[in-house]
Amino acid sequence: MTDTDDYHVPATESMYECPSCGRPFAREEWRTLHRGLEHASELDDADVEQFREAYRSEDSELRLFRLKALAALVVLYFVLLMIYAVV
Ligand SMILES: [Zn+2]
Repeated sequence: MTDTDDYHVPATESMYECPSCGRPFAREEWRTLHRGLEHASELDDADVEQFREAYRSEDSELRLFRLKALAALVVLYFVLLMIYAVV
């Protein structure tokens, strides 16, 4: 793994540092997800529960994004179909 010297975090930005490898993250939940995926054996019960919560939240956000993307594709399809029918 890489160490903190490989990352350049501006001094004015807040960051959440991984206690195991020192990698900085812009959001606390990203660090939680990173720790659960990369350092799973080092987590205690509270950390595991935090990881599961962040994972569930990320999963539902992804589902919403897929649904919106599908809706946008359907709308685009019908718009192009109407243009094709008229022109
Ligand atoms: Zn780490």
